[in-house]
Amino acid sequence: PDLDSEHPNALEMFRAGLAADPDGVAVVYFDGTLTRRELDAQSDALASALLAGGFGAGERLAVYLQNVPQFVVCMLATWKAGGVLVSINPMSRARELSYLLQDSGATVLVALESLYDEVGRDVVPDTAVRLVLTTSELDHQTRDDPRLFAGITRQRHEGTTDLATLVAQHAGEVPPPVVLAGDDVAFLTYTSGTTGVPKGAMNTHRNVVFTSRVYREWARFQRGGSIFGIAPLFHITGLIGHIGASFDAPAPLVLAYRFEPNVVLDALLEHRPTYTIGAITAFNALFNAPAFTKDHFASFTSTYSGGAAISPTAEKAFLAATGLQVHNAYGLTETTSPMTLTPFGTPSPVDPTSGALSVGTPVPGTIVRIQDEVGHDVPLGEVGEIVADGPQVVAGYWGKPDETAANLPGGALKSGDVGFMSPEGWIFIVDRKKDMINASGYKVWPREVEDVLAEHAAVREAAVIGVPDERRGETVKAFVSLKPGTSATPEELVAHCKERMAAYKYPREVVVIDELPKTVTGKILRRELRTRGV
Ligand code: ATP
Repeated sequence: PDLDSEHPNALEMFRAGLAADPDGVAVVYFDGTLTRRELDAQSDALASALLAGGFGAGERLAVYLQNVPQFVVCMLATWKAGGVLVSINPMSRARELSYLLQDSGATVLVALESLYDEVGRDVVPDTAVRLVLTTSELDHQTRDDPRLFAGITRQRHEGTTDLATLVAQHAGEVPPPVVLAGDDVAFLTYTSGTTGVPKGAMNTHRNVVFTSRVYREWARFQRGGSIFGIAPLFHITGLIGHIGASFDAPAPLVLAYRFEPNVVLDALLEHRPTYTIGAITAFNALFNAPAFTKDHFASFTSTYSGGAAISPTAEKAFLAATGLQVHNAYGLTETTSPMTLTPFGTPSPVDPTSGALSVGTPVPGTIVRIQDEVGHDVPLGEVGEIVADGPQVVAGYWGKPDETAANLPGGALKSGDVGFMSPEGWIFIVDRKKDMINASGYKVWPREVEDVLAEHAAVREAAVIGVPDERRGETVKAFVSLKPGTSATPEELVAHCKERMAAYKYPREVVVIDELPKTVTGKILRRELRTRGV
């Protein structure tokens, strides 16, 4: 597909959709909707208010929100005021929120009242934030579902301003035209810190316009369809795969506050979306919900799984549950989401040796290299670090020149993932470099062991780590959760692996737990299992 975009920045990408279909629905939130015209007017009002308050070009506005329509209003308003959106994980607790606000130097914070009450008000006074706007998850809809909103009441706090009131006060005002260059930063998105201290990736307008178009084109997502926001909006998958793609199409984006399987299932039947992208763990949670039927997915024409590894077993389970092929999407915060994708309608091949499912082929304009420790390309088929260069790669990390130089030498991103490329150009991920286990000098990649565990009929999810071992240096340990209504003993699971893998690879110990620790984007936190010391 032709991915050259006519949009100089992400705001113009939205405006092109606005001009094409001003009265089309932009955001759906339970029984409430915002048309593109309404979204435009609300963000005009908010941008005017920000400018009136002295907000200057390049200033940062942080959102500490769940998947609510206000998120999209704030994004557009920030750009209209010439600023940068800092997206903060709503699961962040005080220490994390404090770090993100300090690191980004945000001067405006838009927070859900409930989050501000619980976490924000103790943190904000120590930061550069001078304006706090609060808003409620109950705004923009009338149906306050007790499954999500039990105990949540509207509450105002001293020293904060109500977002809706401010928007109403500035209704009808239009901010002066703004110049946003392709190289200007659109978002600061923080890596989740699964591999260290969170770093603010500077996603530029050019990055955002390019990747939004990639999703729209590759997912064969056309006008007339709608997007279901299964991933959290703060994460790069949500920012691009949900909001960006909805601007570019243009198409309605259906939001459901946060991922609650039963609420999501009801919303799928009500709104009949055609496209989504989310972590495989989220899809699995839907399939395992007792209310799930194939009909919940009947309206989808295109489904992508991204942000976390997907095994061939999980791909088959997706097909069995929904009748649909799930396509793989691989990327990082630093690649503004997609680096490789499974082309729509094409099954991802499976590597016969490792059993890994391909993460797709590089998206247009993107060069993916596999390199050794010293940065030389390795021959096709050989394992090395995945390095990406293309229009989606960020310029660097905010305020972190050393990390930028180390991870983005010459502008190409060293992903920290180890993988290989097949002669046909398919990319396969072996695992994250840092998660490699060294057992008696043999390299063991956790993902391969996890995939074998996932083949066991009772296993829902598996996570594998290395633990210190006197004889072997490190040994392989697995944690699994089981499917509802099934049982399997640790011995049985060890035997299952032993039968299927080389002696140095199979886990010597398997621990069955109820739920594996995960990030809000559904990535299993091996690090937490390592530090838990169980
Ligand atoms: P940190 O960089 O701090 O560890 P993070 O892991 O949450 O944070 P993200 O940018 O959200 O950062 O995740 C990117 C990583 O997710 C990739 O490097 C890769 O390991 C993994 N990943 C993403 N998509 C896929 C996929 N389709 N298959 C396998 N792994 C994937």
